[in-house]
Amino acid sequence: MHQNLINRIYIDGQFVTPHGTELFDLHSPATGQVMGRVQLADEVDAGLAVAAAKRALPAWSATSREERIDALRRLRDAVAARLEDLKEAVVVEYGGPVRNAYLVDSIAGAFTDMIKTLEGFEFTRQIGNAIVEMAPIGVAGLIMPWNSDAFFISDKLATALAAGCTAVIKPSEMSATQTQVLAEALHAAGLPHGVFNIVTGRGDVVGTTINRHPDIAKISFTGSTEVGKMIMREASDTLKSLTLELGGKSPSIILDDADLEEAVTGALRAGFVNNGQACVAGTRILVQENQLDDVLALITKKVGTDYPVGDPRDPATAIGPMVSLHQWERVQSYIHRGIEDGARIVVGGPGRPDELPDGYYVRPTVFADVSNDMTIAREEIFGPVLTVITYRDEDHAVEIANDTTYGLHAYIFSGDPARARRIASSLLAGRVSVNGGFEQLAPFGGFKQSGLGREYGSFGLEGFLEPRSVML
Ligand code: NAD
Repeated sequence: MHQNLINRIYIDGQFVTPHGTELFDLHSPATGQVMGRVQLADEVDAGLAVAAAKRALPAWSATSREERIDALRRLRDAVAARLEDLKEAVVVEYGGPVRNAYLVDSIAGAFTDMIKTLEGFEFTRQIGNAIVEMAPIGVAGLIMPWNSDAFFISDKLATALAAGCTAVIKPSEMSATQTQVLAEALHAAGLPHGVFNIVTGRGDVVGTTINRHPDIAKISFTGSTEVGKMIMREASDTLKSLTLELGGKSPSIILDDADLEEAVTGALRAGFVNNGQACVAGTRILVQENQLDDVLALITKKVGTDYPVGDPRDPATAIGPMVSLHQWERVQSYIHRGIEDGARIVVGGPGRPDELPDGYYVRPTVFADVSNDMTIAREEIFGPVLTVITYRDEDHAVEIANDTTYGLHAYIFSGDPARARRIASSLLAGRVSVNGGFEQLAPFGGFKQSGLGREYGSFGLEGFLEPRSVML
């Protein structure tokens, strides 16, 4: 047996060896070396997981609010007990800098958030002569990306269970280490068998089985827009309910009345979050043309001082390696494309940083002289590569911000809250953050090709419920 072989999936309350035999190498992003292998689940495993979730559904969907809250508390405590192991897994497997390890706390926090939502949620509403019951939709397929696998598992699972649904979880095949730790924690919570099942496998094998399975009523997917469209096509035959959290090309609008130092700090934070591998990354920084030189000077200074690239284990590191060689090559190709299209590199550039010849390290790169129709301003790069685009006036800023196929997030930096609030209302984005504002329980999701539906809080919970009108 390979030393670091992960060959356990979780079906009907048991860890079992997959029927699938394909092995997938797990690489260390920091060195590029193979650090382990995962034995992938196949269609047979996925079918068994769906069958287990289907068997568990009648009893779970009949549980009371109190029983679900109790289960979510047990899951939260069991996950909280393994946070240190999860932090280690994220650093080693994903290349997440240790100084951002606190973000891992949200994996347990997702259960706390759903408990709060459940406590105040109205499952029964009166409309005229009708009593509207919000009923669990059925067995849910939950499909994760690699860029925050464990958090998305917790968040989607907490929401599905709160609604009274049972679940088949398809983690990213690239996140098997994190998934393994989390699965052990979830198992330790002692929920009824089959309520959740975890089948790590390929998207075109396990994912496709979920997309087409007649016993899956709902899919909640986080990942790329391309795969989201594929899921929608495949799920259409059985007319599944879909929540799709997809890509983004979010604008960070720096208004001329903003404190420039604070605005640039905020815009870089929004752009480089999670090594730039974030759907919500603010990758288009919009600057009024007469402030361009000042903003570029601040960007150059701050990227140099605040964003050291390096080993994710080094507490000084702000930007760790890309998750995979494929992702590194993809980011490099966009940097080259930006240069070919005539954009000017302000900081960074192609290739690895000089002192980091191994691993999947990228130089944090910012382009100026970018027009919004260039490829680097239109496509999601998913790495620490930002574009600075100038606008003439407020209307022009809004026009550029909205001129994208995406609409996941937007950021505004301004010294005038009323003005920022007014502009926020013209942005075609599911979330608009003003001067760093944040609310976890607010609905999360995208306009346009950033997705369908919303997650988090009561809006997220409704995505797993069907209204049933009983008319008296
Ligand atoms: P991806 O779309 O390549 O894969 C996501 C998941 O889908 C993986 O588990 C993969 O195995 C699976 N998959 C692949 N083909 C499938 C198919 N035909 N049917 C079902 N499942 C299939 O995305 P990724 O590269 O893992 O993640 C990066 C992408 O995720 C980026 O585009 C990013 O913007 C997006 N993302 C969005 C959000 C959000 O909330 N909007 C959050 C994080 C990441």
